[in-house]
Amino acid sequence: MSLILISSERFAEHMTPPGHPESPERAEVMDVVAAGWRGRGGEVVAPREATREQLARVHTPEHLRRMAEANGVALALDPDTYTSPETYEVALLSAGAAIDAVERVMGGSHKRALALSRPPGHHAERDRVMGFCIFNNVAVAAAHARTLGARRVAIVDYDVHHGNGTQHIFEHDPDTLYVSTHQYPYYPGTGAADEVGYGAAAGRTVNLPLEVGATDDDYREVFEAVVLPVLRQFRPDLVLVSAGFDAHVRDPLAGMRVTTAGFVAMTAALRAVAEEVCEGRLAAVVEGGYDLRALRECLEAVVDLLAFDEALAVQWPACDIASSRGRDTVRQAKSSLAKYWTIL
Ligand SMILES: [Zn+2]
Repeated sequence: MSLILISSERFAEHMTPPGHPESPERAEVMDVVAAGWRGRGGEVVAPREATREQLARVHTPEHLRRMAEANGVALALDPDTYTSPETYEVALLSAGAAIDAVERVMGGSHKRALALSRPPGHHAERDRVMGFCIFNNVAVAAAHARTLGARRVAIVDYDVHHGNGTQHIFEHDPDTLYVSTHQYPYYPGTGAADEVGYGAAAGRTVNLPLEVGATDDDYREVFEAVVLPVLRQFRPDLVLVSAGFDAHVRDPLAGMRVTTAGFVAMTAALRAVAEEVCEGRLAAVVEGGYDLRALRECLEAVVDLLAFDEALAVQWPACDIASSRGRDTVRQAKSSLAKYWTIL
């Protein structure tokens, strides 16, 4: 089969305080999704821990040392990022799952992989934890892909939050494209359209800030006008997806109105563009998503569409809510990025 899932029952051992949205129940949802896939004859493997060498490509020695010291200890590292005694090992497995996904896809044993990582990663900076994230799983995966022969890697982040950590880690790297759709202004505060990267990497950061309330139709608009054309022009050797499902209409943290069918369409569009530019190589790494029912629905739907072996048509759901948010975002992208990319 084209798809492999990377999942660990240990992801539930990372404990957060009662009522914290990044709860161990999220890992239980992912276990159910993995078991469902296994029950259909699909392949699920347990990750290995990411190594120090793999993490050190994107994190500072101080950050790695501080996290190793947190092994076995419960700490509040920032106002919303906590460790329990098992967190360090679980976070190594979470980053390791992203690594494993990339190895399968770059090695050619599977066309597509989904890492059911927890804790998430995209807020983690080179030198510190942030926003529930300990290590930047997708950044670790992108750096690893480069060592396996990928000359250019694209990361598309449709989590509702801007992936500040991922942007900062790669904003000087012309060979790593970072594209993010996110609610804006909103946590973490970064991700304005005019943040485009530096020097030779100018234009390789593509921020698509969307006003609160954006719908499937707004996301369709920015995908068709910016995300997909930029991917076609960049021609990566691998597409990575920071797959957060907290732009879902039912999500308790954010204020977007994306439906499960909208997430399916976004993921299908990324799968299709990967077929066009890099022989289909795509690895998705789970980020946020805090409504447990929405998380399960989205993950099961994404597994279905990544598993499907035939070519598939991208079907954006009909949307009857009129909104100009997507068009506003495309306008901003044109004014910041027209120097670097042809935007439709
Ligand atoms: Zn998020």
